[in-house]
Amino acid sequence: MSGEAPLILLVEDEPQMRRFLRVALEGSGYRYGEAATGQEGLAMAVQLRPEAILLDLGLPDMDGLELVRRLREWSQTPVIVISARGQETDKVAALDAGADDYLTKPFGTRELLARIRVALRHAGPEAAEEPVFELDRWRVDLAKRQVLVEGQEVHLTPLEYSLFTTLIRHAGRVVTHRQLLKEVWGGAAGAQPLYLRVYMTQLRHKLEEEPSRPKYLQTEPGVGYRLRVED
Ligand code: CA
Repeated sequence: MSGEAPLILLVEDEPQMRRFLRVALEGSGYRYGEAATGQEGLAMAVQLRPEAILLDLGLPDMDGLELVRRLREWSQTPVIVISARGQETDKVAALDAGADDYLTKPFGTRELLARIRVALRHAGPEAAEEPVFELDRWRVDLAKRQVLVEGQEVHLTPLEYSLFTTLIRHAGRVVTHRQLLKEVWGGAAGAQPLYLRVYMTQLRHKLEEEPSRPKYLQTEPGVGYRLRVED
C-alpha cells in the first residue's frame, strides 16, 4: 500500500458534482472511486477500503447520516460531509453520527483538498479494520449486518443488533449502562437500565449456548456489560 496514492471514495448523486470532484481529486494525484447511492457507497467502502470518504447527505436511497452510522459500525475511515445543508444542527447531527468534518456547498477546490489532507493525517496507518467479527461459534458481518451462530443465520431485532455491535466495538472492555443507553437508544428520554436487562436477556437466548450462564455476554454488576473475548 505504501507509495500508492490515497484512495478517496465519493458518495454523491449529482453527476455534475461528481465530475467536479473527480477532476479536483485526480488532478491532485489521488486515486478515486465513486458511488451515486448510499447502498452503493457502503458496498464500495467495503470493497475499496478508501483512505477517506466524501459524502453528500441528500442521497436518493438513504440519508447520508444513516450511511455514516452504518459505516461507523465497522470502520473508522475519515468521513467529510459535503452538503448544501448549512445549519448548525445539521453539522452537529453529522458529527454526532460519526462524521469527521463538514463542508457546505458550494466550496472551492483548495478548501476541499486542505480538508482531505487533514483527514488523512488523522487517520492512522493502523486504521485497517475488518468488517467481520469472529468469536468462537459466532461470525458477525458488520457490513452486511449478518449474524451467524455455527454457520446459521440468527435474526436480531434492530435494537438487539445495535446492542450487540456496540459491545463488539468495545470488545473485551466493560461498557457502562449509560454508554449503552446512549449508543443504542441514542439517549432517548425514559431509556433505563431495565431495558438493557431485557434486551440482554433476549440476546443471550439467541446467541449463547447456555443463556442463563452466559460465556461471552457478561454482566458487570452495577456497572454494565462486557463482551468477553478471551479466557
Ligand atoms: Ca444530493
